[in-house]
Amino acid sequence: MSRFFSAKYASLQAYTPGEQPRDAQYVKLNTNESPFPPAPAVTAAAAQEAERLNLYCDPACTELCAAAARQYGLLPENVLPVNGSDEILYFAFMAFGDERHAFTFPDVTYGFYPVYANVNHVPAHIIPLREDFTIDPADYCNLGENIVIPNPNAPTGIALSVSQIEDIVRTNSDAVVIIDEAYVDFGAESCVPLLGRYDNLLVTQTFSKSRSLAGARLGFGLGNPALIQDLNTVKYSVNPYNVNRMTQAAGIAAMQSGDYYRQNCLTIVQNREYTTQALAEMGFETLPSKANFIFTQCPDIPGGALYQALRERGVLVRHFDQKRTENFIRVTIGSRPQMDAFLDAVREIRKERGI
Ligand SMILES: *Cc1c(COP(=O)(O)O)cnc(C)c1O
Repeated sequence: MSRFFSAKYASLQAYTPGEQPRDAQYVKLNTNESPFPPAPAVTAAAAQEAERLNLYCDPACTELCAAAARQYGLLPENVLPVNGSDEILYFAFMAFGDERHAFTFPDVTYGFYPVYANVNHVPAHIIPLREDFTIDPADYCNLGENIVIPNPNAPTGIALSVSQIEDIVRTNSDAVVIIDEAYVDFGAESCVPLLGRYDNLLVTQTFSKSRSLAGARLGFGLGNPALIQDLNTVKYSVNPYNVNRMTQAAGIAAMQSGDYYRQNCLTIVQNREYTTQALAEMGFETLPSKANFIFTQCPDIPGGALYQALRERGVLVRHFDQKRTENFIRVTIGSRPQMDAFLDAVREIRKERGI
Protein backbone atom coordinates (compact mmCIF):
# COMPACT_ATOMS: atom_id res chain seq x y z
CA MET A 1 0.00 0.00 0.00
CA SER A 2 1.33 3.48 -0.84
CA ARG A 3 1.12 6.27 1.69
CA PHE A 4 -1.50 7.89 -0.60
CA PHE A 5 -4.14 5.15 -0.47
CA SER A 6 -7.37 6.55 0.95
CA ALA A 7 -8.15 5.48 4.50
CA LYS A 8 -11.70 4.70 3.38
CA TYR A 9 -10.35 1.69 1.45
CA ALA A 10 -7.69 0.57 3.89
CA SER A 11 -9.67 -2.47 5.06
CA LEU A 12 -10.97 -3.41 1.60
CA GLN A 13 -10.79 -7.12 0.74
CA ALA A 14 -10.77 -7.21 -3.05
CA TYR A 15 -12.44 -9.95 -5.06
CA THR A 16 -10.14 -12.72 -6.32
CA PRO A 17 -11.10 -13.76 -9.87
CA GLY A 18 -10.60 -17.36 -10.92
CA GLU A 19 -7.22 -18.06 -12.50
CA GLN A 20 -6.82 -17.09 -16.18
CA PRO A 21 -3.66 -18.97 -17.23
CA ARG A 22 -1.88 -17.48 -20.24
CA ASP A 23 -0.96 -20.85 -21.76
CA ALA A 24 -3.40 -23.41 -23.11
CA GLN A 25 -2.05 -26.42 -21.27
CA TYR A 26 -5.04 -26.64 -18.92
CA VAL A 27 -8.49 -28.12 -19.32
CA LYS A 28 -10.11 -24.93 -18.11
CA LEU A 29 -13.18 -25.62 -16.01
CA ASN A 30 -12.76 -22.88 -13.42
CA THR A 31 -14.61 -19.71 -14.49
CA ASN A 32 -17.84 -20.89 -16.12
CA GLU A 33 -17.03 -19.71 -19.62
CA SER A 34 -18.54 -21.37 -22.67
CA PRO A 35 -16.29 -23.98 -24.30
CA PHE A 36 -17.71 -22.92 -27.68
CA PRO A 37 -16.53 -19.92 -29.76
CA PRO A 38 -18.89 -17.04 -30.53
CA ALA A 39 -21.21 -17.55 -33.54
CA PRO A 40 -19.43 -16.73 -36.86
CA ALA A 41 -21.66 -13.66 -37.40
CA VAL A 42 -20.50 -12.32 -34.03
CA THR A 43 -16.79 -12.49 -34.81
CA ALA A 44 -17.46 -10.95 -38.25
CA ALA A 45 -19.45 -8.06 -36.76
CA ALA A 46 -16.76 -7.33 -34.18
CA ALA A 47 -13.99 -7.44 -36.81
CA GLN A 48 -15.87 -5.02 -39.05
CA GLU A 49 -16.46 -2.63 -36.18
CA ALA A 50 -12.76 -2.74 -35.31
CA GLU A 51 -12.13 -0.52 -38.36
CA ARG A 52 -13.90 2.32 -36.55
CA LEU A 53 -12.06 2.04 -33.25
CA ASN A 54 -10.68 5.54 -33.75
CA LEU A 55 -14.15 6.90 -32.95
CA TYR A 56 -15.93 6.83 -29.60
CA CYS A 57 -18.80 4.39 -29.35
CA ASP A 58 -22.47 5.35 -28.91
CA PRO A 59 -22.74 5.95 -25.13
CA ALA A 60 -26.48 5.25 -25.21
CA CYS A 61 -25.95 1.91 -27.03
CA THR A 62 -29.08 2.77 -29.05
CA GLU A 63 -29.13 -0.19 -31.44
CA LEU A 64 -28.03 -2.65 -28.79
CA CYS A 65 -30.81 -1.47 -26.44
CA ALA A 66 -33.37 -1.83 -29.24
CA ALA A 67 -32.16 -5.36 -30.04
CA ALA A 68 -32.19 -6.38 -26.36
CA ALA A 69 -35.65 -4.88 -25.86
CA ARG A 70 -36.96 -6.97 -28.78
CA GLN A 71 -35.28 -10.09 -27.45
CA TYR A 72 -36.65 -9.72 -23.90
CA GLY A 73 -40.08 -8.37 -24.89
CA LEU A 74 -39.38 -5.01 -23.22
CA LEU A 75 -38.92 -1.37 -24.26
CA PRO A 76 -35.49 0.22 -24.77
CA GLU A 77 -36.03 2.32 -21.62
CA ASN A 78 -36.16 -0.94 -19.62
CA VAL A 79 -32.62 -1.85 -20.71
CA LEU A 80 -29.14 -0.75 -19.63
CA PRO A 81 -26.20 -2.45 -21.40
CA VAL A 82 -23.06 -2.68 -19.27
CA ASN A 83 -19.45 -3.80 -19.29
CA GLY A 84 -20.22 -7.30 -18.00
CA SER A 85 -23.02 -7.81 -15.49
CA ASP A 86 -20.51 -7.21 -12.68
CA GLU A 87 -20.78 -3.56 -13.66
CA ILE A 88 -24.56 -3.35 -13.28
CA LEU A 89 -24.28 -5.01 -9.88
CA TYR A 90 -21.70 -2.44 -8.85
CA PHE A 91 -23.86 0.42 -10.18
CA ALA A 92 -26.84 -0.96 -8.24
CA PHE A 93 -24.93 -1.07 -4.94
CA MET A 94 -23.85 2.54 -5.64
CA ALA A 95 -27.34 3.69 -6.62
CA PHE A 96 -29.52 1.93 -4.03
CA GLY A 97 -27.26 1.20 -1.06
CA ASP A 98 -25.92 3.49 1.66
CA GLU A 99 -25.28 3.35 5.42
CA ARG A 100 -29.01 3.08 6.09
CA HIS A 101 -29.96 0.91 3.11
CA ALA A 102 -28.31 -2.49 3.47
CA PHE A 103 -28.11 -5.25 0.89
CA THR A 104 -29.19 -8.76 1.88
CA PHE A 105 -27.79 -11.91 0.27
CA PRO A 106 -27.03 -15.56 1.14
CA ASP A 107 -23.88 -16.70 2.97
CA VAL A 108 -22.93 -19.02 0.13
CA THR A 109 -23.29 -16.99 -3.07
CA TYR A 110 -21.41 -14.90 -5.63
CA GLY A 111 -18.23 -13.62 -3.98
CA PHE A 112 -18.51 -10.15 -5.46
CA TYR A 113 -21.58 -9.06 -3.41
CA PRO A 114 -19.71 -8.61 -0.10
CA VAL A 115 -16.96 -6.73 -1.96
CA TYR A 116 -19.47 -4.34 -3.58
CA ALA A 117 -21.08 -3.77 -0.19
CA ASN A 118 -17.72 -3.09 1.38
CA VAL A 119 -16.36 -0.72 -1.27
CA ASN A 120 -19.58 1.32 -1.16
CA HIS A 121 -19.87 1.29 2.65
CA VAL A 122 -23.19 -0.50 2.42
CA PRO A 123 -24.01 -2.86 5.31
CA ALA A 124 -24.27 -6.50 4.22
CA HIS A 125 -27.06 -8.58 5.78
CA ILE A 126 -26.05 -12.18 5.24
CA ILE A 127 -28.60 -15.00 5.55
CA PRO A 128 -27.34 -18.60 5.75
CA LEU A 129 -28.63 -21.10 3.21
CA ARG A 130 -30.43 -24.11 4.63
CA GLU A 131 -28.38 -27.20 5.51
CA ASP A 132 -29.02 -28.62 2.01
CA PHE A 133 -27.70 -25.40 0.40
CA THR A 134 -31.14 -24.24 -0.75
CA ILE A 135 -32.45 -20.72 -0.20
CA ASP A 136 -35.50 -20.51 2.06
CA PRO A 137 -37.60 -17.86 0.27
CA ALA A 138 -39.41 -17.10 3.55
CA ASP A 139 -36.12 -15.70 4.92
CA TYR A 140 -36.32 -12.95 2.30
CA CYS A 141 -40.02 -12.05 2.46
CA ASN A 142 -41.03 -8.83 4.27
CA LEU A 143 -37.43 -7.81 4.96
CA GLY A 144 -37.80 -4.20 3.81
CA GLU A 145 -34.16 -4.27 2.68
CA ASN A 146 -32.46 -4.35 -0.69
CA ILE A 147 -31.82 -7.93 -1.78
CA VAL A 148 -29.57 -9.58 -4.34
CA ILE A 149 -29.95 -13.26 -5.20
CA PRO A 150 -28.47 -15.15 -8.14
CA ASN A 151 -30.96 -17.47 -9.80
CA PRO A 152 -29.69 -20.14 -10.12
CA ASN A 153 -27.45 -19.45 -7.13
CA ALA A 154 -23.67 -19.67 -7.51
CA PRO A 155 -21.70 -21.75 -6.69
CA THR A 156 -24.49 -24.19 -5.76
CA GLY A 157 -26.34 -24.15 -9.11
CA ILE A 158 -29.67 -24.48 -7.26
CA ALA A 159 -32.58 -22.43 -8.66
CA LEU A 160 -35.72 -20.92 -7.16
CA SER A 161 -38.99 -20.82 -9.11
CA VAL A 162 -40.37 -17.55 -10.45
CA SER A 163 -43.32 -17.76 -8.05
CA GLN A 164 -40.96 -18.07 -5.06
CA ILE A 165 -39.07 -15.01 -6.30
CA GLU A 166 -42.30 -13.13 -6.95
CA ASP A 167 -43.19 -13.52 -3.25
CA ILE A 168 -39.86 -11.94 -2.33
CA VAL A 169 -40.30 -9.05 -4.78
CA ARG A 170 -43.95 -8.40 -3.79
CA THR A 171 -43.30 -8.40 -0.04
CA ASN A 172 -40.34 -5.99 -0.29
CA SER A 173 -42.06 -3.34 -2.39
CA ASP A 174 -40.13 -0.48 -0.73
CA ALA A 175 -36.71 -1.94 -1.52
CA VAL A 176 -34.87 -3.05 -4.64
CA VAL A 177 -34.71 -6.77 -5.36
CA ILE A 178 -31.99 -7.79 -7.82
CA ILE A 179 -32.20 -11.19 -9.46
CA ASP A 180 -28.82 -12.04 -10.99
CA GLU A 181 -29.62 -14.32 -13.92
CA ALA A 182 -26.04 -14.98 -15.04
CA TYR A 183 -26.85 -18.70 -15.48
CA VAL A 184 -30.56 -18.63 -16.31
CA ASP A 185 -30.15 -20.03 -19.85
CA PHE A 186 -29.11 -23.47 -18.60
CA GLY A 187 -32.49 -24.55 -17.26
CA ALA A 188 -33.92 -22.05 -14.76
CA GLU A 189 -36.92 -19.74 -15.30
CA SER A 190 -36.31 -16.05 -15.99
CA CYS A 191 -38.00 -13.33 -13.92
CA VAL A 192 -38.13 -10.92 -16.89
CA PRO A 193 -41.91 -11.53 -17.27
CA LEU A 194 -42.39 -10.07 -13.75
CA LEU A 195 -40.89 -6.72 -14.75
CA GLY A 196 -44.19 -5.29 -15.99
CA ARG A 197 -45.75 -5.79 -12.56
CA TYR A 198 -43.02 -4.68 -10.12
CA ASP A 199 -41.15 -1.37 -10.14
CA ASN A 200 -38.67 -2.62 -7.51
CA LEU A 201 -37.30 -5.56 -9.53
CA LEU A 202 -33.97 -5.40 -11.35
CA VAL A 203 -32.99 -8.44 -13.42
CA THR A 204 -29.36 -8.73 -14.52
CA GLN A 205 -28.14 -10.91 -17.35
CA THR A 206 -24.78 -11.52 -18.98
CA PHE A 207 -23.51 -12.67 -22.38
CA SER A 208 -20.40 -14.10 -20.68
CA LYS A 209 -21.73 -17.59 -20.02
CA SER A 210 -24.40 -18.79 -22.45
CA ARG A 211 -23.39 -16.39 -25.29
CA SER A 212 -19.64 -17.17 -25.42
CA LEU A 213 -18.69 -13.49 -24.88
CA ALA A 214 -16.86 -13.48 -21.53
CA GLY A 215 -13.88 -11.73 -23.11
CA ALA A 216 -16.04 -9.03 -24.73
CA ARG A 217 -17.66 -7.91 -21.42
CA LEU A 218 -21.39 -7.49 -22.05
CA GLY A 219 -24.20 -7.59 -19.54
CA PHE A 220 -27.64 -6.02 -19.13
CA GLY A 221 -29.71 -4.47 -16.40
CA LEU A 222 -33.44 -4.92 -17.05
CA GLY A 223 -36.01 -3.05 -15.01
CA ASN A 224 -38.56 -0.33 -14.60
CA PRO A 225 -37.59 2.88 -16.51
CA ALA A 226 -37.11 4.86 -13.27
CA LEU A 227 -34.67 2.26 -11.89
CA ILE A 228 -32.82 2.19 -15.22
CA GLN A 229 -32.65 5.99 -15.18
CA ASP A 230 -31.02 5.96 -11.71
CA LEU A 231 -28.49 3.41 -12.91
CA ASN A 232 -27.83 5.56 -15.99
CA THR A 233 -27.15 8.54 -13.71
CA VAL A 234 -24.48 6.45 -12.00
CA LYS A 235 -23.11 5.22 -15.34
CA TYR A 236 -22.83 8.75 -16.78
CA SER A 237 -21.09 9.83 -13.58
CA VAL A 238 -18.48 7.11 -13.87
CA ASN A 239 -17.92 5.85 -17.42
CA PRO A 240 -20.34 6.84 -20.25
CA TYR A 241 -18.53 4.73 -22.89
CA ASN A 242 -18.72 1.58 -20.82
CA VAL A 243 -19.62 -0.81 -23.67
CA ASN A 244 -17.11 -0.52 -26.49
CA ARG A 245 -17.89 -0.51 -30.22
CA MET A 246 -16.84 -4.07 -30.93
CA THR A 247 -18.83 -5.41 -28.02
CA GLN A 248 -21.97 -3.47 -29.02
CA ALA A 249 -21.73 -4.96 -32.53
CA ALA A 250 -20.97 -8.43 -31.17
CA GLY A 251 -23.97 -8.27 -28.82
CA ILE A 252 -26.40 -7.37 -31.62
CA ALA A 253 -25.05 -10.18 -33.81
CA ALA A 254 -25.28 -12.62 -30.89
CA MET A 255 -28.97 -11.85 -30.48
CA GLN A 256 -29.43 -12.66 -34.18
CA SER A 257 -27.71 -16.03 -33.70
CA GLY A 258 -30.17 -17.43 -31.17
CA ASP A 259 -30.33 -20.95 -32.63
CA TYR A 260 -26.58 -21.43 -32.36
CA TYR A 261 -26.53 -20.48 -28.67
CA ARG A 262 -29.66 -22.45 -27.81
CA GLN A 263 -28.01 -25.55 -29.29
CA ASN A 264 -24.85 -24.91 -27.27
CA CYS A 265 -26.89 -24.56 -24.07
CA LEU A 266 -28.60 -27.89 -24.79
CA THR A 267 -25.22 -29.54 -25.27
CA ILE A 268 -23.98 -28.10 -21.97
CA VAL A 269 -27.08 -29.36 -20.16
CA GLN A 270 -26.52 -32.85 -21.62
CA ASN A 271 -22.86 -32.76 -20.60
CA ARG A 272 -23.92 -31.64 -17.11
CA GLU A 273 -26.21 -34.65 -16.70
CA TYR A 274 -23.52 -36.97 -18.14
CA THR A 275 -20.86 -35.65 -15.74
CA THR A 276 -23.15 -35.72 -12.71
CA GLN A 277 -24.09 -39.34 -13.48
CA ALA A 278 -20.45 -40.43 -13.93
CA LEU A 279 -19.50 -38.75 -10.64
CA ALA A 280 -22.44 -40.39 -8.85
CA GLU A 281 -21.10 -43.77 -9.93
CA MET A 282 -17.91 -42.87 -8.03
CA GLY A 283 -19.88 -41.88 -4.93
CA PHE A 284 -19.73 -38.11 -5.43
CA GLU A 285 -22.59 -35.99 -4.10
CA THR A 286 -23.55 -33.23 -6.52
CA LEU A 287 -26.06 -30.48 -5.76
CA PRO A 288 -28.96 -30.35 -8.29
CA SER A 289 -27.67 -27.78 -10.80
CA LYS A 290 -29.54 -25.66 -13.32
CA ALA A 291 -26.33 -23.87 -14.33
CA ASN A 292 -23.30 -24.50 -16.55
CA PHE A 293 -21.36 -25.78 -13.54
CA ILE A 294 -21.78 -28.32 -10.79
CA PHE A 295 -20.90 -28.12 -7.11
CA THR A 296 -19.80 -31.55 -6.05
CA GLN A 297 -18.04 -33.34 -3.21
CA CYS A 298 -16.07 -36.55 -3.08
CA PRO A 299 -16.76 -38.56 0.08
CA ASP A 300 -13.09 -39.57 0.41
CA ILE A 301 -11.03 -36.58 -0.77
CA PRO A 302 -11.34 -33.07 0.73
CA GLY A 303 -12.13 -30.32 -1.78
CA GLY A 304 -8.76 -28.57 -1.47
CA ALA A 305 -6.79 -31.78 -2.05
CA LEU A 306 -8.94 -32.75 -5.01
CA TYR A 307 -8.57 -29.27 -6.53
CA GLN A 308 -4.78 -29.52 -6.17
CA ALA A 309 -4.55 -33.06 -7.54
CA LEU A 310 -6.66 -32.07 -10.58
CA ARG A 311 -4.46 -29.04 -11.14
CA GLU A 312 -1.37 -31.24 -11.16
CA ARG A 313 -3.05 -33.25 -13.92
CA GLY A 314 -3.77 -30.14 -15.96
CA VAL A 315 -7.46 -29.73 -15.00
CA LEU A 316 -8.43 -26.40 -13.47
CA VAL A 317 -11.56 -26.26 -11.31
CA ARG A 318 -12.53 -23.85 -8.50
CA HIS A 319 -12.27 -24.46 -4.77
CA PHE A 320 -13.80 -22.07 -2.21
CA ASP A 321 -11.85 -22.37 0.99
CA GLN A 322 -14.58 -21.42 3.47
CA LYS A 323 -16.22 -23.47 6.14
CA ARG A 324 -19.42 -24.50 4.37
CA THR A 325 -17.85 -24.99 0.96
CA GLU A 326 -14.40 -26.42 1.69
CA ASN A 327 -15.34 -30.03 0.88
CA PHE A 328 -16.69 -29.12 -2.56
CA ILE A 329 -15.21 -28.28 -5.90
CA ARG A 330 -17.05 -26.25 -8.54
CA VAL A 331 -16.63 -27.67 -12.01
CA THR A 332 -17.60 -25.71 -15.12
CA ILE A 333 -19.41 -27.85 -17.67
CA GLY A 334 -17.47 -27.77 -20.92
CA SER A 335 -17.40 -29.86 -24.08
CA ARG A 336 -17.69 -33.65 -23.90
CA PRO A 337 -13.91 -34.16 -24.45
CA GLN A 338 -13.18 -31.69 -21.63
CA MET A 339 -15.56 -33.49 -19.28
CA ASP A 340 -14.02 -36.85 -20.19
CA ALA A 341 -10.55 -35.43 -19.44
CA PHE A 342 -11.86 -34.23 -16.07
CA LEU A 343 -13.50 -37.58 -15.28
CA ASP A 344 -10.38 -39.51 -16.31
CA ALA A 345 -8.28 -37.33 -14.02
CA VAL A 346 -10.69 -37.96 -11.13
CA ARG A 347 -10.52 -41.73 -11.77
CA GLU A 348 -6.71 -41.63 -11.77
CA ILE A 349 -6.59 -39.61 -8.56
CA ARG A 350 -8.89 -42.08 -6.83
CA LYS A 351 -6.93 -45.06 -8.11
CA GLU A 352 -3.67 -43.57 -6.89
CA ARG A 353 -5.20 -43.19 -3.44
CA GLY A 354 -6.53 -46.74 -3.49
CA ILE A 355 -10.18 -45.65 -3.46
C1 LIG B 1 -20.19 -14.68 -13.92
C2 LIG B 1 -21.16 -14.02 -12.99
C3 LIG B 1 -21.52 -12.67 -13.12
C4 LIG B 1 -20.90 -11.66 -14.01
O1 LIG B 1 -20.33 -11.95 -15.11
P1 LIG B 1 -19.89 -10.84 -16.14
O2 LIG B 1 -18.83 -11.54 -16.90
O3 LIG B 1 -19.38 -9.64 -15.38
O4 LIG B 1 -21.10 -10.51 -16.93
C5 LIG B 1 -22.49 -12.17 -12.29
N1 LIG B 1 -23.06 -12.92 -11.36
C6 LIG B 1 -22.74 -14.19 -11.18
C7 LIG B 1 -23.43 -14.98 -10.14
C8 LIG B 1 -21.76 -14.78 -11.99
O5 LIG B 1 -21.39 -16.04 -11.77
